[in-house]
Amino acid sequence: MVSALYGTPLAIPVGMTIATVVIAACGAITGDIGFAVLSAAMGCIGAFRFGAQLYYRRTHAAGSTALFERLAYGGAWATAFTMSCFGAYTVAAHADDRIVTLAVAQTIGYIAGIAGRNSSRPFITNIQVSCATIPFAGALMLSQIPAFMVIAGALLMTVVLTISSSNVIHGVFVSNFRKTRELQLFATTDSVTALLNRRGFIDEVEERLRTGGRIYLLSVDVDDFKTVNDTLGHDVGDALLSVIAERIASVLGPRDKAARIGGDEFMIVSDRSGEDVAALATAIVGSFAEPVSVAKATLSISVSVGLANGTGESVERSLKHCDLALYKAKADGKNRWQSYTPELSEAYDKRMSLEQDLAKAIAANELEVQYQPIYSPRGRTILMCEALMRWRHPTRGMISPAEFIPIAEQNGLITTLGAFAIEQAMEAATRWPQPVGVSVNVSAKQFHPDHDLVGVVEDALRRTDIAPHRVMLEVTESTLAEDKNFVIETLQRLRVLGVRIALDDFGTGYSSLSYLAELPIDILKIDRAFVNSVATSSKAQSLLRAIAGLAAELNVAIIVEGVETPEQFEAVTQFQPHGVQGFLFARPMPKEAIDLIIDRRVTLPAIDRPRPTRRKQHRSSAA
Ligand code: C2E
Ligand code: MG
Ligand code: MG
Repeated sequence: MVSALYGTPLAIPVGMTIATVVIAACGAITGDIGFAVLSAAMGCIGAFRFGAQLYYRRTHAAGSTALFERLAYGGAWATAFTMSCFGAYTVAAHADDRIVTLAVAQTIGYIAGIAGRNSSRPFITNIQVSCATIPFAGALMLSQIPAFMVIAGALLMTVVLTISSSNVIHGVFVSNFRKTRELQLFATTDSVTALLNRRGFIDEVEERLRTGGRIYLLSVDVDDFKTVNDTLGHDVGDALLSVIAERIASVLGPRDKAARIGGDEFMIVSDRSGEDVAALATAIVGSFAEPVSVAKATLSISVSVGLANGTGESVERSLKHCDLALYKAKADGKNRWQSYTPELSEAYDKRMSLEQDLAKAIAANELEVQYQPIYSPRGRTILMCEALMRWRHPTRGMISPAEFIPIAEQNGLITTLGAFAIEQAMEAATRWPQPVGVSVNVSAKQFHPDHDLVGVVEDALRRTDIAPHRVMLEVTESTLAEDKNFVIETLQRLRVLGVRIALDDFGTGYSSLSYLAELPIDILKIDRAFVNSVATSSKAQSLLRAIAGLAAELNVAIIVEGVETPEQFEAVTQFQPHGVQGFLFARPMPKEAIDLIIDRRVTLPAIDRPRPTRRKQHRSSAA
């Protein structure tokens, strides 16, 4: 009722002004001071009702509607009573037909208006109609003029009919209202978590922006949810989402509203201050410090949060800012929150422009493959070279694969880039001495049923005529996030071709020993981060010993990457790796440079450490 009455901004000021002017006009025509008093009373009531309306429109989001409901019916009754007094006074004090016609028309019109409009609360309508009618009808009766007495009778009939019909109308109105409410709730609620859904959330945000509030949006994304969902099944995934929703809700205040807007992504709108909202973001991340229990399992999960300002922006734009902040939080290592800054948009724009340039890069001959030798620590000769892609951008200079590979993975160009790298690498290797192999990185996205990776490798083998056993493909654990069975089957088919498979970057991410047994691999590449810790921590050494033992058991050889110092080299040689790779020996270099060093033995400083009494000998070219 309140929103209907106060939501139509013109009804009260226009209606009240007309009533006031009509009464004042009667005063002007007759010169009767009584009309001036009634007109002033009507004007004051109108001003009061209009003030209440303005106050409601400014504050109603924060408070309850009970006060406004009382103000609404108080104002309506006062108006009705004053209107009726006007009619009664006119009939009692004036014989002028024009004035009486004005009063009768105004009062009857008003009563008809109430009867048609106020179906929301019968008791308000009934009192209002009575207030509007009884003084006027009484005066009409007392006038003893037959025509007036007929009008009085008709008015009283109207009162009786309005009162009896308003109950019926009210019943219909309320049940329709409830139904609409339920439908609305259904359309705006998420069935898994009972939070708002995307539609409901956008409505909420738009409403808050419309009422002029300063708002913040928070985007909450469960870290690595897909892994949980895939390993535990979708039912557990759904149950987990409910628990996550509860955790999030537990740290919200009365001015925050949460929604699940799809998959494992939650959003919150808040009208807290900047400092408070930062505390909220911290609390959300912190609320997952304790593991969650779901379906008899205890899971350690974390969330990343993006935070953006929603003031003065379109909802879509604010949501995008929130997303950019969230991506940054994820890229910075997850389990944290990040607030939006304009630099994030700049980085995004740069990425977009790189994405456009990348599409043209191959044709423009801007992509090249460099090679980094992998040495055998025993023979000190090059076992193979890892092919590492480089992008010589015409204006931005050399761009690292760490920057453009993820872009290519996202826009699908990776399959073209990947095929290019495979072809180039095999081609380069044909010029190398027989035993030296080549190793090419393959992205998880190249393992897709729509992309014929096996065909690409087969073609390149045929075209370059290189012995397949000289070719190795490096995959990462993230490959298993794709369709696992399909990945394993593809790897097996590749091995049937004769190429070898390496698991790259072991020791980062989810490194699971079970992958070693599950994946058909020949080589395990231990990541640089792990090598770093092996040199300094005895725990990491024990771990590497266990991994090396297991790998030997499974007939998987080990290559250690990222060896930068003699100490690191010394620390890893005790595990007798098959190969070592790192800046200590050689950096990635163009194929012309590789051709020059390919058949030389290398000086391995940890082994060939110069004796203190003798000057260091350069033996890198010794055969
Ligand atoms: P990755 O396969 O693990 O390659 C090793 C990375 O470590 C290379 O970085 C290499 O330059 C660097 N590196 C080698 N030794 C050392 C060292 O001693 N210290 C340090 N700090 N770094 C060392 P790069 O060339 O920047 O490549 C980064 C990543 O980009 C690669 O990591 C690989 O995942 C990806 N990548 C490169 N080329 C390709 C490609 O053709 N296809 C795909 N899918 N990914 C590629
Ligand atoms: Mg690699
Ligand atoms: Mg690696």
